[in-house]
Amino acid sequence: MQWLYSDALGGVKLYVPEEFETEAKAILALNFSEDVDAAFEEKLEICAQCQSTNFINYTKGKKPAFIVFIFLGFPLFFCKHGRKCTDCGWFKETQ
Ligand SMILES: [Zn+2]
Repeated sequence: MQWLYSDALGGVKLYVPEEFETEAKAILALNFSEDVDAAFEEKLEICAQCQSTNFINYTKGKKPAFIVFIFLGFPLFFCKHGRKCTDCGWFKETQ
């Protein structure tokens, strides 16, 4: 998850019992990139307004919340994290 932090600590270490060493090395040598891509393609996002599939991560209300924070010293309202259509600007809130 935190790959910069992970590399700084020397990477990920996997411990297995000695009898599983060969099997573990074989599994680690496998490439699951295509499976991961396929899993994400199945959950393709489609814009409700323009049917576009181009989305970016977006935080709604970040600027007003920041300005209020500067003047009042505390956050009066909160940002909404979600996904935004890059073609029409439609915003979908995520949990
Ligand atoms: Zn759209």
